[in-house]
Amino acid sequence: MWAADAADLSLLHFLTYAGANNGLQRLISTRGGAQQSRIVGGSQRIALALATELGDVVRLDAPVHAIGWRPDGAEVRTDASAVRAKRVIVATSPALAGRLAYDPGLPADRDLLTQRMPNGSVIKCMAVYGEPFWRADGLSGQGVSITGPVKVFFDNTPPSGSPGVLLGFLEGNQARRYGRLDQAARRQAVVGCFATMFGSRAAHPDLYVEKVWADEQWTRGCYGAFLPPNTWTNFGPALRAAVGPMHWAGAETATRSMGYMDGAVLSGERAAAEVISALGGATPA
Ligand SMILES: Cc1cc2nc3c(=O)[nH]c(=O)nc-3n(C[C@H](O)[C@H](O)[C@H](O)COP(=O)(O)OP(=O)(O)OC[C@H]3O[C@@H](n4cnc5c(N)ncnc54)[C@H](O)[C@@H]3O)c2cc1C
Repeated sequence: MWAADAADLSLLHFLTYAGANNGLQRLISTRGGAQQSRIVGGSQRIALALATELGDVVRLDAPVHAIGWRPDGAEVRTDASAVRAKRVIVATSPALAGRLAYDPGLPADRDLLTQRMPNGSVIKCMAVYGEPFWRADGLSGQGVSITGPVKVFFDNTPPSGSPGVLLGFLEGNQARRYGRLDQAARRQAVVGCFATMFGSRAAHPDLYVEKVWADEQWTRGCYGAFLPPNTWTNFGPALRAAVGPMHWAGAETATRSMGYMDGAVLSGERAAAEVISALGGATPA
């Protein structure tokens, strides 16, 4: 869930996160739990549908590199343009928010928090076969290994039933270790895990695809961020407290479904309500 090892995060964060997600059992469960459903067509459909509704106010290929701010307004700067606004919502992970240049600089607590909230380490790996052959053997395609390096497995076959897709995650220390190898070596290790789990047919996929999330410039790790020891206790309030005209959103700031897409949407609604209230409008129910 954190794409991290036990030594990385605090017990308080473990408890906060589990509490914000209706408990550990729900988080790790498939049936009736957080792992139950997939979005047909891919989860990017949420962002694409929201962008279609918003129309041409959405600016793509315009990464923000700086925010100039005063108590009553801000200027958001990209390479090509600057946008002035009374209020700004920053909706990236805290680590990426901490890489923006703020003028003037952030208060110490907020900056120190962004220095202490790393993103998890995940490599998502998929092997594609003509059919989900493991089903004929009575296997679900889901599994957990304590040896690894792939420790979590799912059947990621599309609803049509073809092709067969096995999904495995390299997480935490394993993602860091195997992320340093070249793709051929990683493929060999991952496909070897599929074969150990689902039999020798799994050793020969038609296709292998993977995503090293820590390499992605605008994500730099996932599934989300976590707090190491002594961070909630020292800097917790800085996670959500607005700084001048700047409000903070994103899955990490959610009080419900923290770390999940659902939480990201809820955090956006919370930040939008803060902005409406700061501008003197009525906050929606
Ligand atoms: C492999 C993987 C599997 C996952 N599985 C699940 C799952 O099964 N269920 C679930 O609920 N969640 C899952 N998650 C987590 C989920 O993706 C996140 O919780 C969610 O995307 C967080 O949304 P967000 O809006 O807070 O941040 P993000 O989705 O990270 O959005 C931040 C946006 O800001 C943009 N950005 C970054 N820097 C800048 C900049 N300087 N200027 C402008 N834009 C910038 C980024 O491009 C990005 O579009 C998974 C994540 C990964 C990586």
